[in-house]
Amino acid sequence: MARNVPLLTIVVPCYNEEATLEETTKELTRVMDDLVANHKISDESIIFYVDDGSSDNTWGIIEEKTAINPYVQGLKLSRNFGHQGALIAGLESARDFSDCVVSIDADLQDDVNVIYQFIDKYQEGYEIVYGVRDKRDTDTKFKRNTALWFYSLMGKMGVKLVPNHADYRLMSKRALDEFIKYQEENLFIRGIVPLLGFKSTNVYYDRKERFAGESKYPLKKMIAFAFDGLTSFSVAPIRFVSYLGFLMVLIGIGIALYALFAKVFSYTTSGWTSLMLSIWIVGGVQLLAIGIIGEYIGKIFKETKGRPRYTIEKNSVLEKQKEYVSELVKK
Ligand code: UDP
Ligand code: MG
Repeated sequence: MARNVPLLTIVVPCYNEEATLEETTKELTRVMDDLVANHKISDESIIFYVDDGSSDNTWGIIEEKTAINPYVQGLKLSRNFGHQGALIAGLESARDFSDCVVSIDADLQDDVNVIYQFIDKYQEGYEIVYGVRDKRDTDTKFKRNTALWFYSLMGKMGVKLVPNHADYRLMSKRALDEFIKYQEENLFIRGIVPLLGFKSTNVYYDRKERFAGESKYPLKKMIAFAFDGLTSFSVAPIRFVSYLGFLMVLIGIGIALYALFAKVFSYTTSGWTSLMLSIWIVGGVQLLAIGIIGEYIGKIFKETKGRPRYTIEKNSVLEKQKEYVSELVKK
């Protein structure tokens, strides 16, 4: 189908979001209507909700919306795969029918009006447009500080990230095609996208309060996410352990010389303290080293299995296409 305006798909991962979907749909529909009216995007553009195995009525609401709102379509994962899994499922499915894709959270924390600028930049020829938070006043101080610390740590370890950018961005079909080639099991999408290259730019906005419901990212998930990001993209921790080991050997030699010296001149019995210290330090370092190496081996273990990263239960877009085809056949 030849189109002179792009088909936009907005991918929205949803996990137990029944409290927000009503308002989110309203806001996104308003933006879609505007863009269609101004001939910026095709009227076949899609708001694509990905239900990440919610235990509440999220999928029920998505089905309801699909029936009454011409933009809304839904993808239902067979269980909870996590934010990144849901996002990648949505992106990969959207690639088949979209010219460009915007990913956004369901809770309206990211300003939907930024999508206008995304589309403008896309028309200017940018393949990737990052939504970057200007202020983070609405996040807790703890979340803000840990995030800042995390970005600077990642930077020091040589992982290129766009600071203060979460997963609110536009990608062209071309960028998506390349993105899909990164078939790794340990997903850290915002680390992969900058690796794609292409012409890209930032758009700035203020991050708002979650519209309703609670954060689906408790501390435990946040730590796991940060750890995944770090160990999926950097071998710096392994190298650090090697340096540490090297340093310990040097110190060990120093201590050995001292012990020999003390014995030869026999002005002291060997100290319990130094013995205990070395046992504890060396033991600690070994444990640390084993732990970090184990982390990487665990990742290799996961990669080698090559398991699917998500499982789709229902895809309303495909169902719609099937209906269309069967109607054509009838005629
Ligand atoms: N989310 C998801 N699966 C999960 C956790 C979260 O799809 O296992 C979705 C959630 O519905 C939301 C987005 O990911 O649309 C971001 O989550 P949230 O707003 O809770 O994170 P925060 O903004 O607090 O970091
Ligand atoms: Mg949020």
